[in-house]
Amino acid sequence: MVLDNCLIIIISSPSGVGKTTITKRLKRKINKSYLSISCTTRSPRKNERNKKDYFFVSKEKFLKYKKQKKFIETAKVHNNFYGTFKSELKKNYKKSKVVFLDIDWQGARNIRKKIKDNCYSFFLLPPSLSILKKRLIKRHSDNTRLAFSRLLSARKDLKYWDEYDFIYINDKLNTCVNEISKKIKDLIIEKDKRKSFKQIVKKL
Ligand code: 5GP
Repeated sequence: MVLDNCLIIIISSPSGVGKTTITKRLKRKINKSYLSISCTTRSPRKNERNKKDYFFVSKEKFLKYKKQKKFIETAKVHNNFYGTFKSELKKNYKKSKVVFLDIDWQGARNIRKKIKDNCYSFFLLPPSLSILKKRLIKRHSDNTRLAFSRLLSARKDLKYWDEYDFIYINDKLNTCVNEISKKIKDLIIEKDKRKSFKQIVKKL
């Protein structure tokens, strides 16, 4: 797939690091950017809405979409299926500068294989494992078992940090968002520079 007009920015992290908040803030900070809405078989949480946070579908429907090759990548995370629609990537890319993908390490690996140019991956780390543990216990205060199972899978996810282009530690939220947003703005400038050089060289 060639999306030479805009950057694909993958953001991954273990659960509890603050990825959703960070991605939403980045979307607001970066002009002409949008977030690809994934498809999932998991049930919506209290504050989530269909077609806004995810396309929530049954397992049957998900597998049908997969057979129809509607996804660029799919993964099984915490026993549910997740997938990135090809149509979401193409949706606005002509008018946009950045498409954000909030996906896990499996998705990041697959996208990197399929989109070679203008695709960058960011991995967010917690300041420490004990801080992550505290955050997860707070988030799932009504379900300690869930908090510990998320901590267990967080430890597994952390192993993949080295596959990513850029690593950031979410210690102070604002600092982390500002640093990542600066990096993305630099990448946009770099891409635009290359595009215009290409035009110049063509004319030589
Ligand atoms: P949650 O269920 O907490 O929203 O997401 C669980 C994990 O699935 C997160 O790491 C999230 O980034 C990842 N995820 C969400 N959408 C996709 C997707 O389309 N593909 C893949 N590979 N992972 C996804």
